Amino acid sequence: MLIPPVALNLDDLNEPQRAAVLHDGGPLLVLAGAGTGKTRVITYRVARLIEGGVSPDRILAVTFTNKAAGEMKKRISDLAPGAGSRVWVHTFHSFCCRLLRRHHEKLNLGRHFTIYDEDDQKRTIVEAMKTLGLEKEKNKAGMYVHIISRAKDDLLDAGSYKIHSDASPDPARQTAASIYEAYQRLMDAAGALDFGDLIMKAYDLLRNHEDIRKHYQGFFQHVLVDEFQDTNRAQYGLARTLAAEHKNLCVVGDDDQGIYSWRGANIGNILEFEGDFANTRVVTLEQNYRSTPQILEAAVSVIHYNRNRKPKKLKTDNAAGEPIETMELPNEVEEARWVVRRVAQLVEAGRGLRDIAIFYRTNAQSRAFEESLRAARFPYRIVGAMRFYERKEVKDVLSYGRAIVNPDDTAALVRIINVPPRGIGKASLDRLSHDARESGMSLWEALKVAPGLSSVSPASKRAIQRFVELMEHLRSQAASRPPCVALETVIEASGLRVWLEEETKTDPEAAGRLENIAELVNAAKDYELRLSAAGEAADLGRYMEEVALQSGVDSYDESVPAVTLMTVHLAKGLEFPVVFLTGLEEGLFPIGSNAAPKDLEEERRLCYVGMTRAREKLYLTHANTRRIFGHVFASLPSRFILESQLTQGSPVLPSRPVRSPDAAPVRSLAAMRVGMRVRHPSFGLGKVTESSGSGKDARVMVRFDDGRTTKLLVRYAPLEPA
Ligand code: ATP
Ligand code: MG
Repeated sequence: MLIPPVALNLDDLNEPQRAAVLHDGGPLLVLAGAGTGKTRVITYRVARLIEGGVSPDRILAVTFTNKAAGEMKKRISDLAPGAGSRVWVHTFHSFCCRLLRRHHEKLNLGRHFTIYDEDDQKRTIVEAMKTLGLEKEKNKAGMYVHIISRAKDDLLDAGSYKIHSDASPDPARQTAASIYEAYQRLMDAAGALDFGDLIMKAYDLLRNHEDIRKHYQGFFQHVLVDEFQDTNRAQYGLARTLAAEHKNLCVVGDDDQGIYSWRGANIGNILEFEGDFANTRVVTLEQNYRSTPQILEAAVSVIHYNRNRKPKKLKTDNAAGEPIETMELPNEVEEARWVVRRVAQLVEAGRGLRDIAIFYRTNAQSRAFEESLRAARFPYRIVGAMRFYERKEVKDVLSYGRAIVNPDDTAALVRIINVPPRGIGKASLDRLSHDARESGMSLWEALKVAPGLSSVSPASKRAIQRFVELMEHLRSQAASRPPCVALETVIEASGLRVWLEEETKTDPEAAGRLENIAELVNAAKDYELRLSAAGEAADLGRYMEEVALQSGVDSYDESVPAVTLMTVHLAKGLEFPVVFLTGLEEGLFPIGSNAAPKDLEEERRLCYVGMTRAREKLYLTHANTRRIFGHVFASLPSRFILESQLTQGSPVLPSRPVRSPDAAPVRSLAAMRVGMRVRHPSFGLGKVTESSGSGKDARVMVRFDDGRTTKLLVRYAPLEPA
């Protein structure tokens, strides 16, 4: 297909952005603060490469979410008509999945491998523990999922992890190594990969097969990676390998926005990049296009308190906006009510609901906002909470789909073998699972031979026989049909629909479940239509993969007129005209009491990410008390509120906060005299050099012993005489 010539307008870029976009080739690192157009640089650069004659299908651009990938494709097509669908725009996971399907035979992997989610992983860990006689450790399954996932992020397979552990004096490491090995054996038997495997196995594929490696290294002329600060070792290793021949690797990132170290991301990749690639061109961007000066100033002021960072400049020519509003409320219910009252005022003043976002640190905080929004009849959507595909009834139908595509998918079989109930007892299932584990078979293989075994009761034998026949029937009927037809067949032939209809007589929630499975069929239909519009045919296997790779934020549709609720983590890369950053309390945000300095710095980066999502108006709220697990806790305002106000002697003025009657007494200026030695929990010791204002507006200037001089609002600053 001939690509029509592109006419890129480079006037949409500032000077350094243009330099990055026009950079001829060779390693390129764009390191810049929030909202400076990093993502825009990637998009324009791809379009520019196409304009310059590079074939779109020789370009790989990696984004952080599928949603971001979809948007980037759209933008590329706007700039270079027709090219968006041909460029490889992927997340690391979806790219690796594609690679592994293509070369599955090299890895002793079925083409129809399943992708296990965290829940499936936990179940498999518990099975692995059983093979080792460690059932008692069951409640630690989540911890082992974490350990194994982190090992994979660092490219340590079970064998290498064991070697490392053998050298360790810590017996817990050795237990983890044994569980890892047993887990991997079960994953192999089930033809299943977890998210860490996708990356690690793709990396191994390239490393161990020179022909394949050479092919892709030659094939991809350009590799571009967005949000580079959140890549882990395995992902970076993969990108580096792919770009090793042409050396056209362009990465963009912001070390101040690294918020996934708990998931193995390694900000150090940014620092290593220049060492790994000689002659790296480094471009820094300083002009923020997103936010008002007030918002930017406050966010920069916060991040400034991190010690472990690359200093960078950030400025904006955007017009001055309204001041940041900081509000103190008595408790989380009042906090939610206040936010919703503000939403009402904004809407009254002509704001669209979709312009407004409410961020929080933990999912549990959404409930109070939901209640207040519902009471005020404001439509809202929660991004990334319980994913639609995680609902039990939806997952049951999908598990049938998975087991049709990959008979060995044990986690799926265990889910559906008795759903709807068909009289296969738990004891029989446990025994079969045990036999399967012992003999290295998959559960499916064990089920097929079960009717011939004396250890299984005659009733169970008959039930198992019927289940095996059902699955074989479904496989012959559904496997090759379009996903939507296949799922409808599953729902009918498995008896799920009839069973749920029966349930509606006694269970008021069952009707909702029926609606959800109908909605799943619709979703599958949408998927088919989307693919056929792109000239591709959908099959059940691909649909299962699409669902498995969905992430929380992918479902977010900004055209829906509703207030958006989400955790700060999920907000990365997005922007909203109005942002409420809530629950800014010590222990909640930053989370945890006595966080280690490096964790505290990550929390601060998270706060910086949250603040820099706002374009025009930012609200910071905190509550004096908060109910957590049924107990009421008193809380202090987050240090980040204070830090946001300390802009080198010119604090961004907070609006006058409402104080609850039972709030702590306002600290008084009288206690702070010029010349006095004081102590601050984050900044250490210092000396008061000036005082001004009175009452609630009282401020002091403090020169801290580390040389930093800052102006503090006495009523907020946790200053004590030293
Ligand atoms: P983040 O750090 O949050 O990922 P980013 O650096 O990727 O941000 P973008 O999302 O690319 O920044 O851009 C931020 C906003 O600024 C977007 O709305 C974008 O359209 C706009 N923008 C970027 N560059 C320019 C420019 N040269 N002229 C006008 N607007 C721009
Ligand atoms: Mg970006």
